[in-house]
Amino acid sequence: LVGGGKKKQVKKETGLGLTNKKDNNFGEWYSELVVTSEMIKYYDISGCYILRPWTMVIWKIIQRFFEAELEMMDVEDCYFPLFVSENALKQEQEHIKGFTPEVAWVTKSVRWEFSHPTPFIRSREFLWQEGHTAFATKEEADKEVLEILELYRRIYEEFLAIPVVKGQKSELEKFAGGLYTMSVEAFIPNTGRGIQGATSHCLGQKFAKMFDISFENKKGEREWVWQNSWGYSTRTIGVMVMVHSDDKGLVLPPKVASVQVVVVPVTYKDADMQGIFEACMNTVKTLRKAGFRAKEDLRENHSPGWKYSHWEMKGVPVRIEIGPKDMANNQVRVVRRDNSSKIDVPTSNLVEQIKDILDDIQQCLFDAAKQKRDACIEVVHTWEEFTTALNEKKLILAPWCDEEEVEKKVKEQTKGEMGACKTLCTPLDQPDILEETLCFASGKPAKKWTYWGRSY
Ligand code: AMP
Repeated sequence: LVGGGKKKQVKKETGLGLTNKKDNNFGEWYSELVVTSEMIKYYDISGCYILRPWTMVIWKIIQRFFEAELEMMDVEDCYFPLFVSENALKQEQEHIKGFTPEVAWVTKSVRWEFSHPTPFIRSREFLWQEGHTAFATKEEADKEVLEILELYRRIYEEFLAIPVVKGQKSELEKFAGGLYTMSVEAFIPNTGRGIQGATSHCLGQKFAKMFDISFENKKGEREWVWQNSWGYSTRTIGVMVMVHSDDKGLVLPPKVASVQVVVVPVTYKDADMQGIFEACMNTVKTLRKAGFRAKEDLRENHSPGWKYSHWEMKGVPVRIEIGPKDMANNQVRVVRRDNSSKIDVPTSNLVEQIKDILDDIQQCLFDAAKQKRDACIEVVHTWEEFTTALNEKKLILAPWCDEEEVEKKVKEQTKGEMGACKTLCTPLDQPDILEETLCFASGKPAKKWTYWGRSY
């Protein structure tokens, strides 16, 4: 087989490859990818998914990082029952205007209202981390809200290689029962939608009063506690898939990849296959000893070409190929998933080079994602600029008067097939606001710069 024919043959043989393209039909591409890369299996209840080992490793790596940080903050674990009584739920609903919990009622077999599930991003059941803390003073609670928010930023930026904006939710978008909500917001350039990555709420003293949670202060008096609540979910993984992956499949950042390096023997008819297999196993041993997650693929029922496509589909950051020529030269061929570049690395220098390459991939993924995200940010001043930017799927930064009525009006005026535009967050890192700067929507003096967009 020659030229293009070879590629076709591999595709046909592997049955791999995606039929949908990221830039043409994003939604279908995403649904196909999460299944073909063996992350999830669909389940016979809509909105519920089976999370396969390829997903669970990523979740566990994130959790391990977060739990170690929590230990240093003296936060302890507990487990709460899945079921809540109707009374307890009603009590919250009565106290909190605008709080309508999305729940499944267990009576007998009933319908469960829920629209537009998307694997990882919005599912009926999801894994998450939920934190609840209580403090004597508001200052302590405020400080922790930001500490947790910083950990969430690190999960996205340092582990998943996704740039996020730290900011505060508007009164309309905050958790209705809380005092204020902070979030990290990510952005999906292909759909032009923002996505709430994780939230850190200061609940104030409302729940303390409602459920009688108090402590004895230094003077021996009872005082209500100040509470926080914070959480992230398996949505993190969906954002990672959407941002980095391409038409060949998943692209995993090395820090969360279940397999960071896959070693594939390059088989030739008269080659010393035993020797090559041993070299592959030794390479894996060396890499594992050095702390990398490495794996060999010695299956004899698949060709090297099939294996390349298979591991590319699954997003493994680095592939090492070992064939007769590499053996003769005491080297291995290293291929990167992110940019397809190939280099020959001397066996003697393998560990150092693999470390550098994995670090570089992690950084390159973040840089590329940030460049793409930043290219979508549009600063607007007028309603006309705003609607143009919205139609162009931009992440809009606009001066706003911070009035709830104005936000409601913007939502009303932009609602349509694609969903309404709303505030995503007011970034903590605020550009200067000049005295004469006016709100893009109301024309009143602007109080802050806020991100707006459609969202998931
Ligand atoms: P909340 O307590 O509503 O602020 O949720 C905490 C975090 O969980 C959110 O910031 C989301 O990242 C995530 N989350 C909320 N609802 C869902 C859902 N239906 N599916 C997946 N993740 C979710």
